Amino acid sequence: MRRKMRVYIGIDDTDSPSGMCTTYVAARALKAVEELGARAIDCPWLVRLNPNCPHKTRGNAALCLPIEVDRSEFPSVWERVLEVVRELADVGNGADPGVAAFSEEARPHLLPFYYRTVREIVEVEEALELAERHALAYWRHGEGRGIVGAVAAAGADLDTLSTYELLAYRRREMWGKERWVDPESVIRMDYLFADCTFDNFDYEKREVRLTPHTPCPVLLGIRGTSPEVLPQALSVLVLGEPYDFYQVFRTNQATDLHYRPSSVSELRPLTSAVVRGRVVGRPVVGPGGHVFFELDDGTGRVTVAVYEPTGSVRKVVLKLVEGDLVEVYGAVKPKPQGLTLNLEKLRVIELKPLFVPRAPRCPACGRTMESAGRGQGYRCDRCGYSDPRAQKVPVQVDREVTPGIYEVAVSARRHLVRPLRLELSQRVTSSPGSGLRPREEG
Ligand code: ZN
Repeated sequence: MRRKMRVYIGIDDTDSPSGMCTTYVAARALKAVEELGARAIDCPWLVRLNPNCPHKTRGNAALCLPIEVDRSEFPSVWERVLEVVRELADVGNGADPGVAAFSEEARPHLLPFYYRTVREIVEVEEALELAERHALAYWRHGEGRGIVGAVAAAGADLDTLSTYELLAYRRREMWGKERWVDPESVIRMDYLFADCTFDNFDYEKREVRLTPHTPCPVLLGIRGTSPEVLPQALSVLVLGEPYDFYQVFRTNQATDLHYRPSSVSELRPLTSAVVRGRVVGRPVVGPGGHVFFELDDGTGRVTVAVYEPTGSVRKVVLKLVEGDLVEVYGAVKPKPQGLTLNLEKLRVIELKPLFVPRAPRCPACGRTMESAGRGQGYRCDRCGYSDPRAQKVPVQVDREVTPGIYEVAVSARRHLVRPLRLELSQRVTSSPGSGLRPREEG
């Protein structure tokens, strides 16, 4: 009997702003190695890394092919993957691909690096060192930033790969042309698969969210919580062109994995954080409809930015007042005036009772009194009662906002952010290590 081995092949940075998509390269590489006798032991992994990374092309995703091969076949499988990467990577337009293969036994050594690559900015040297020490084989082109994602993806924690995405690819002659998917069919699909898919349609902006707007080979993507239903969801869609083929990926999307609970004083640029604190002053609307407010948690103060594309969550933010206790989820950006947190999700925890000064009620008949003139107290129009020393009294008013979680518009949501729809309909595996959510029972 021949000895089988499990191999995890990470691939990253094969795309550029002008074309290609690493998911396509991975899907094609998988087909190629299956022809050599390798067997997929899981869906290929689509691993989202730090969305604030300045080096990213678009969504900062890396890929991993988890396969089983005969030990003696590994060298030819490895060469075949490199052939596909070399053939498809858009190196002429700045892609810097990296590929790295690891055994099952090596994966635990990569785990801390995986978490750090999702949450921080890591150095190429760290990835190279891990590849040097633990990889069965690795390869990189040019400066090889792609090695970072390749190592991180191969080291991904299975528990964090709790959602799926089906990607349908276009025939080659359609690359770069406009895409069309019938919006009515998307809404129908979204309704039929409401409990197991998400981010299909932005009802606030009346916009299909399945199709990218780049010249890449992807026709559309459907995100969901189970791999089986995604092809069924695809079959409901009315497409403007036949797709070439589709591939279902297992992903860490929609897991909130990138957030780290943090105090204001601990905030670092280009990371994502969850900060709990109290609102200072009142939120303000700036030019372009962007909303800003100050948050204080006792260790410091940070500006929270709620940009116009985030949609109606801004209306909730504008209802907040001084002293309200909130939790903000977002990306930490360096700005000339200090660090700013770009809001991705908001939890309203505790609302301060709000009092506004109002004219007093008449003690005789109960009607609201009228001012008798500046400094001359109030009088009642109905019964004639007057009190020259009466003053405005604080009256508690409705806050017009309730405690709970609020999210940004679907079209403004980042891949790693967990949609509320998932919290409401179905519990997916929690995100271990983030410290944000206890694991659900059952
Ligand atoms: Zn009266």
